[in-house]
Amino acid sequence: MTEKFIYDISEGDASMKPILGGKGAGVAEMMRLGVPVPDGFTVTTAACVETMNNNGEWPDGLREQIAEGLKRFEERTGRTLGGKDNPLLVSVRSGAVVSMPGMMDTILNLGISDDTVAAVAAEADNERFAWDCYRRFIQMYGEVVEGISGHLYEDALSAKKAEKGVEGDTDLTAEDLKELVAEFKQISDEALGGAWTTDPVEQLYRAVDAVFRSWGNPRAEVYRKANNISRDLGTAVNVMQMVFGNRGETSATGVCFTRNPSTGEKGIYGEFLTNAQGEDVVAGIRTPRHLSEMEEVLPEAYHELLDTMARLEGHYKDMQDLEFTIENGKLYMLQTRNGKRTAAAALKIASDLVDEGVIDKAEALRRIEPAQLDQLLHPAIDPSNTAKPITKGLPASPGAAVGGLVFDADTAAEKGEKGEAVVLVRYETTPDDIHGVLVAQGVLTAHGGMTSHAAVVARGFGKPCVAGATTIKIDVEGKKLTIGDHVFNEGDVVTLNGSTGEVFGEALKLIPPRINEDFQRVVAWADEVRTMGVRANADNFEDASKARELGAEGIGLCRTEHMFMAADRLPAVREMILAENAEQRATALEKILPMQQSDFEGIFTAMKGLPVTVRLLDPPLHEFLPNYLDQALKVQELELTGGDAETLAKERATLAQVKKLHEQNPMLGTRGCRLAMLYPEIPEMQTRAIIRAALAVLDREGETVGVEIMIPLVGLETEIITQREIVDRTVKDELAAAGKELDYTIGTMIELPRAALIADKIAEHADFFSFGTNDLTQTTLGISRDDAENGFLTAYVADGVLPHNPFETIDTEGVGQLVRMGVDKGRSHNPKLKCGVCGEHGGDPDSIDFLQTVGLNYVSCSPFRVPIARFAAAKAAM
Ligand code: ADP
Ligand code: MG
Ligand code: MG
Repeated sequence: MTEKFIYDISEGDASMKPILGGKGAGVAEMMRLGVPVPDGFTVTTAACVETMNNNGEWPDGLREQIAEGLKRFEERTGRTLGGKDNPLLVSVRSGAVVSMPGMMDTILNLGISDDTVAAVAAEADNERFAWDCYRRFIQMYGEVVEGISGHLYEDALSAKKAEKGVEGDTDLTAEDLKELVAEFKQISDEALGGAWTTDPVEQLYRAVDAVFRSWGNPRAEVYRKANNISRDLGTAVNVMQMVFGNRGETSATGVCFTRNPSTGEKGIYGEFLTNAQGEDVVAGIRTPRHLSEMEEVLPEAYHELLDTMARLEGHYKDMQDLEFTIENGKLYMLQTRNGKRTAAAALKIASDLVDEGVIDKAEALRRIEPAQLDQLLHPAIDPSNTAKPITKGLPASPGAAVGGLVFDADTAAEKGEKGEAVVLVRYETTPDDIHGVLVAQGVLTAHGGMTSHAAVVARGFGKPCVAGATTIKIDVEGKKLTIGDHVFNEGDVVTLNGSTGEVFGEALKLIPPRINEDFQRVVAWADEVRTMGVRANADNFEDASKARELGAEGIGLCRTEHMFMAADRLPAVREMILAENAEQRATALEKILPMQQSDFEGIFTAMKGLPVTVRLLDPPLHEFLPNYLDQALKVQELELTGGDAETLAKERATLAQVKKLHEQNPMLGTRGCRLAMLYPEIPEMQTRAIIRAALAVLDREGETVGVEIMIPLVGLETEIITQREIVDRTVKDELAAAGKELDYTIGTMIELPRAALIADKIAEHADFFSFGTNDLTQTTLGISRDDAENGFLTAYVADGVLPHNPFETIDTEGVGQLVRMGVDKGRSHNPKLKCGVCGEHGGDPDSIDFLQTVGLNYVSCSPFRVPIARFAAAKAAM
């Protein structure tokens, strides 16, 4: 028996999302609930996947099954596709398992043809309407299915309007549209060299195939990549009877949310247009009206809609994003899905639903996407700002954006990828602009509402967006934006406030984000659930304070070389590195010690007794030294210009030192504890600074400190033995000299494969392990972290050679196994060994999910990722 590829809508339900896609399962569930939806059938995602895997060829039986599904559909409705009497008109809609708003194709009004147009007109008693559907259909079908360039139709439409001396599409009469349809047909037939099909049944097959293909179009690819959606899922295709929102003033179409997707507030949130087809709203072509205004125009349908909204939200126990159409006063629902929302809204909705008794805390946590919380950590406009906005649009996606104007998505992508802050301004954004939206700071559009695809997508990515700013004039060719008397060119800086819709003609000062009450409340639930600790990586007082404020339970990594980079220290540090003998080195270290001590005092003070892991110097030497080539040139120049002898001698000596220390592969060179093995006075100095700082803070009333000293880049047992001895001896010296006591521990980084392999031996000399997964990734995969992204790694990820960038999400198969082995071996020697991860992976939700299985005590990440890690760790533990 061949696989079942077709389901009547009445056969499906919400649980069948994987095969029917989100839209198909949603419509089926609504039908089951008795909510009015158009009838039809769904082609499964499996049919799409098989077609993809078979070079575009349909699987056996699909065509026949569609024909049978259509026959049943025709019997139920008493209509025929392509029939002269009672013609059936359908939409052919894409519908992925994970919603991808506007990324794929949908064709409306299929079934209208020379044979059927008269019956459509007669039934609606509206000839203009029928011909308008017909011309819309040819354009949509021609573009989407046959790949005919849209502007051929647009140009013909404009020419027709000019010829008739009218402004808007709606001013064209039935007769005008009839002529236009004839022209559209001719354009289509010419574009296809005579191969234009007019048979609706054949058109249906082709439309289904086009929707399959749209799964692979570039914007869908970009969207999937950005959202980590697998290409293997495929899209379903929904064939549904058309209902018409464009049959006159008692017809309408719209989109609504059961709660505000920007803020999470309860209330009526939606938009509609009378006498329009759905695409007009979601594609942002016309700026729609606020839903509350519908009460006056179509009161009955309005109240039925509100009831349906409440019912569907109650049924799904989550905020719904709905599409509806009203045909001659009768309401039809076309789509329901859990609405995309900003992180702020996600927290508010989850928190409110718990209060309303709809869901429990665990469910609330399950619904929060940790990675999305990043948005909350976006800056806002400084409230003391006094600048006046130059215009106002709709607040389509909250947050503030400052950037130079760009007028097209390609330029935005190009500049954005270089790290330039840009604001993308468009007449309306289409899903084709997605690559530009992704890298822009924010988006400004002249047209389109808050429920347009552009707005939905911007909210999903946390990009501030001001939409429908109708007073702005955009000249794309000339790259000019005019707002009142202000004229802006490409690169001129503006500020958007996506929370209010305001646009400012200058760069405004932004303030760091604040964490609100909903956040505090929900993250506290996360803390109850998680078993891993969350620490932060911080090297100074400010970062450490921020980390504590965001809930860090300690510092997992304090990098001392960052402290060495500051301008006032670099000379002393260079002096230390370039020292020719122990005496010179001692002098340099003398200078550095008090500076280090004051840094550590700051951090200990900020952390108020929480543990602080201080890593001893891990120097990529070249970062501290003058560049070899530059130094050589300097000497040569002095030689040529005959500079004074003393300077020349000094620069020559430096050159000789730099040359001596120069390494071909600094990342595999004198790094980590290797420098400390050569010059024990360096770890001695650092240990003294740490202990003196700790004692100074302890002396202040009521303060405690948690000192953990960490030895970097150990690969050999002798290294840890030697270094531990140096540190331990120095601590004891310092404490004895001060006549004080202090608890402290000494541990090591595991960041070389060899260290993981001999972790049991290393554990004999370490109180804790911190897995430095950045270096461990670099050394395990043999990929230079600093160079890879400019070269092959990007291609590897794009081509699927690697599933993702291993520096962002841990390579569980390789690096992950070394971490697991390191923990297991280490604990085989010392069951109480404390193990953590510091490095980018410590703040990455997918990596955290894996690290939970390894049995770590904590993860450590940058301060701003701490809240994300708290949520991710909770989800990993659930
Ligand atoms: P997308 O996934 O891009 O939102 P949809 O399949 O939802 O695409 O179609 C876009 C719009 O077309 C819908 O919002 C709806 O208004 C309109 N539409 C789709 N199917 C029908 C139908 N059967 N009758 C009337 N309008 C429809
Ligand atoms: Mg839709
Ligand atoms: Mg390292």
